[in-house]
Amino acid sequence: MSYKYYLALTSQLPFCSIPLRLDSYNRCQFSCAYCFSKARGGAVGNGPAQSLAPRQLFKRLRRAHSGLARGAVEEFLAHRIPIQFGGMNDPFSPWEKTWAVSLAALEILREFDYPFVISTKSAMPAEPAYLRALQGANAYVRISVTGGDLPTQSGMERGVPNLDERLRAAAELASRDIAVSLRLQPIIWGQEEAAANQIRMFASVGVKHVTAEYLKLPVERASKQYSELRRIDTKLNDRYRSLGAKLVGREYVLPADAKIKQLRSLERVARSCGVSFGYADNDLLHLNRFRSCCNAADRYLRNANFFSFNILGIIKAQMGMSQLRFDISRNEWLPLSNMFSHLNSRSRPDGAIQSSWRESWILYLREKWNSSPERGGPSSYWGIKSTDRRDDAGNLVYTHNYDVG
Ligand code: SF4
Repeated sequence: MSYKYYLALTSQLPFCSIPLRLDSYNRCQFSCAYCFSKARGGAVGNGPAQSLAPRQLFKRLRRAHSGLARGAVEEFLAHRIPIQFGGMNDPFSPWEKTWAVSLAALEILREFDYPFVISTKSAMPAEPAYLRALQGANAYVRISVTGGDLPTQSGMERGVPNLDERLRAAAELASRDIAVSLRLQPIIWGQEEAAANQIRMFASVGVKHVTAEYLKLPVERASKQYSELRRIDTKLNDRYRSLGAKLVGREYVLPADAKIKQLRSLERVARSCGVSFGYADNDLLHLNRFRSCCNAADRYLRNANFFSFNILGIIKAQMGMSQLRFDISRNEWLPLSNMFSHLNSRSRPDGAIQSSWRESWILYLREKWNSSPERGGPSSYWGIKSTDRRDDAGNLVYTHNYDVG
């Protein structure tokens, strides 16, 4: 059965530089204890598996490539914004052994030299057929690992290839000049020393970049995953409460003041190994100097553009200035088609739709800019505070204290 939603813009549009995902299957067969895609409908139900129809992907890329893009997604393709391959589900969970749909997608992406970033916990990309598809492709592979000690890490990642297998896969990819990074996600609070060792291990086999993000605790307490998390770490809840974790959307998130000291020290470890470092927690994304936020994909992908017509883009363009203003360059790229249908209903703008989608998008960002941290306003980013003053257009002016923490 063909998976209808295999290619889509993500609800991370307000802050992500590559908000375009590709998923070969509608579900993931791994069972990570912290993964709530099942509980939240990203990997729905127990019905028959659905997978992308490679021919459809080919047709959409060909249309975009020939200047005949239809709709916002294809405009993103025409603009060569990198695809996140495995945005919701791992593209290399066991179904791939039978159906090889991800392999077919890799070959198509390679044919168009289309830039893409794979996120996986599998070692499959280092198998011969996948290596052949990846070599010379415009690809960047992120190997995900839970940042923590071995018992916690293996308890968290049920049914996933073990750490050694992923390490060997990273080594194989690096040895063939395929860009590969380590994605420490999620890091378990209190286990940073083990995470530092994981960085050293992956750096020693040729990984050039690491991204790091702490565990977020889900609100879905009745779910199987939540009981599993509690079984692995019985003190998790108490620890998050005592550290002052805040509810953001449907997750309890550790405060940036608590995380930053630990992350700075992981960054030092990475740098001492010759590896660059990206902050992947949402409230720290503005600290990344790469055009592509935390993942540094701009260093590894060719002929690629990054989406910056969003709140994070406005902030990053002014980093280093004493005041941050709602300032958008006229040349900022945006699709001509409607993007709002790709945001969930809670995230859509309150104001009326304007005469063009561009105007409506600016209005949407303006509402966000003048909103609270909980709604994704600038003060949701660490160290950025409202001055309570407004510019001539009535938009809040912010300051950034670079020395906090
Ligand atoms: S591999 Fe990714 S999508 Fe699959 S269960 Fe683990 S976290 Fe979820």
